[in-house]
Amino acid sequence: MLKWILRIGGGLVVVIGLLFWWLLLSSSNASKTAPGVFDLADWREKAQAPISSLPIGIEVIEVGRDTAPPFAAQAGRFGAPVEMSYNAVEIQYPNSSIIIGGAIDRPTAEEMRLTAQNWRFDDGAYQTLTERMLSANQVLMTHEHLDHVMAIVRHPEPAILAPNLVLNAPQIDALPLFALDALDPALSQIVPELTGETQPIAPGVVIVPAAGHTPGSQNVFISLQNGEEILLIGDTVWNMGAIEALKTRPVLTQYMVFRPNYEDRAAVKDQVRALHDIMAANPDLLVLAAHDRAWLTQAADAGRISFLPAN
Ligand SMILES: [Zn+2]
Ligand SMILES: [Zn+2]
Repeated sequence: MLKWILRIGGGLVVVIGLLFWWLLLSSSNASKTAPGVFDLADWREKAQAPISSLPIGIEVIEVGRDTAPPFAAQAGRFGAPVEMSYNAVEIQYPNSSIIIGGAIDRPTAEEMRLTAQNWRFDDGAYQTLTERMLSANQVLMTHEHLDHVMAIVRHPEPAILAPNLVLNAPQIDALPLFALDALDPALSQIVPELTGETQPIAPGVVIVPAAGHTPGSQNVFISLQNGEEILLIGDTVWNMGAIEALKTRPVLTQYMVFRPNYEDRAAVKDQVRALHDIMAANPDLLVLAAHDRAWLTQAADAGRISFLPAN
């Protein structure tokens, strides 16, 4: 009898150990090399414009925040929870602007709440974002996920917003998934304004397709008047520590968080490697992951970006 208990117990330990390994640690190393995945020289060339026509800065408009378990945000990371920011980015010119990201609305933020203590949603900031989308020349998103599209899909003035939208085909295809009822007719008629190739959309702003996290994922390269270069990478990683450690999110997050479960892990592994190598070779390039609140705060404290924290 004891022998059987030991055998079953030992078997369970092995199964739990394998499950732990598979869900939290496996298949999460960045590629060894990723030649040709990203081309900073090409972005710089496409971003070129007379200095006076370049953007003067970016402002991160945070509508909500929370903390996440470290092992869910980055494979093999344990210890303190990771600070998560939900935001959109305004690229500012002297007399105009571009908004990147639809952020998250209150009902969705409440559904996604992870902690009682650290969760916040700022209705005033959300309203500021929806207003700034209407005064912006263009409104884009990094990718078609529920925490990056809501102020677009559920915007209070869809007919006024629609002409400002500059989206790619997979992003447009995904919009109906996020509508409260049916997608507003003004939004259901928009056509892709992005080609799916690396392209400038305004002086100093280049869209870099980066399918992987989602089919419509893209990076945004920004060249400012003061010479600062910024790269928005959306959700390629949730925290910048993953790039430093050359890790992706774990399999657990892929199956529990992303629905439908279409993250292309191989592509993300290549992108993490490519970003790692670009950052190593260009230490002045400011790379920003959408949700990494500690990193955003640090960039704001260093005076490199403006950051409006959610109250
Ligand atoms: Zn996200
Ligand atoms: Zn995402």
